[in-house]
Amino acid sequence: MLSYQCACGNPVYFDSSLCLACGSSLGFDPLTDRILPADNARLCSNGARYNVCNWLVPPDSPDDLCLACRLNRTIPDLTRPGNLPLWSRIEAAKRRALRSLVNMGLPLRTLAEDPDAGLAFDIVSHIADPAISTGYLAGVITINLEEADDVHRRISQQQLGESSRTLLGHFHHECGHYVWELAFAPWPPDHPIRAAFRSRFGDESSNYPAALARHYSSGPPHGWESSFISAYASSHPSEDWAETWAHYLHLTEAMETCSHAGIHAHHLSLPLVPIPADAASLPPQLTSAITSDDLPFLAALQRWACLTTVLNEVSLSLGEPRLYPFVISTAVAKKLRLAHHVAGFWGRRPALLI
Ligand SMILES: [Zn+2]
Ligand SMILES: [Zn+2]
Ligand SMILES: [Zn+2]
Repeated sequence: MLSYQCACGNPVYFDSSLCLACGSSLGFDPLTDRILPADNARLCSNGARYNVCNWLVPPDSPDDLCLACRLNRTIPDLTRPGNLPLWSRIEAAKRRALRSLVNMGLPLRTLAEDPDAGLAFDIVSHIADPAISTGYLAGVITINLEEADDVHRRISQQQLGESSRTLLGHFHHECGHYVWELAFAPWPPDHPIRAAFRSRFGDESSNYPAALARHYSSGPPHGWESSFISAYASSHPSEDWAETWAHYLHLTEAMETCSHAGIHAHHLSLPLVPIPADAASLPPQLTSAITSDDLPFLAALQRWACLTTVLNEVSLSLGEPRLYPFVISTAVAKKLRLAHHVAGFWGRRPALLI
């Protein structure tokens, strides 16, 4: 992503609402994944009224809101000073996360349109309502507005000992819970997709409150890095899936960005990071020889691991912490492989371009 063009030929970006070369107003069309001139298209009313959205409304839509904003069930109290800029950052991260789902072919209906499989966002201030916290329940993603405050988020990150905590990560993670309900929940427990899940992630029906309480009181198990992408993923199989899904989207989007910019890992003068071939295989009931993505997946993961070594070194050269503070173990690669399989359920599996 991130490689778009204005009609005048100037490079513009996913968040652009103005071309700095020709002065055109721009908007993003989520259905074609293009930046278009906004003059003869309808800008989302959250963009026109509050300047918090650059997406365009489909011409035949009866709505004033774009595909992303119409999923909001609750937005923050904008009469409260400071809430507007926080909300703006939340919406920017949400659009980026939703673009991935739209590009996979997910229909993204509102919960009101589809009570069984729809999606809604409640963006609520924890200060206004101390009972709320970021999370997912039955098609509703709740996001704590204060997570958009960098100081608040950094303090939480330090307290929880997380290597990464971002707004985009929150959206990818919570959307992961939603995707689980769409992809796994409809099948009986003995279905191959459920069996593939359990063999990689464990039993998702195990006691969730007890697992979370244990995680917050005792921390992750020793050596969690060899089995999980993050410490939090070790808390419960459901959280492991959401963390894995979030990571899968992070790396496919980063690969896409690199590819658009002409950065290809096979140009790097570093040996490929070895990842065992069995990390890429899925049960034959889930894939056929024709549709299997095993080898391209494995190769992309190896190139990604190689590229992140370079990105980390660049970051350290600039005096910053590692850009990519993660290790993809064999167990994690197997989980990512299942996420890659699920990402194809709606017809358009992300290309692993790197
Ligand atoms: Zn232009
Ligand atoms: Zn919008
Ligand atoms: Zn979660």
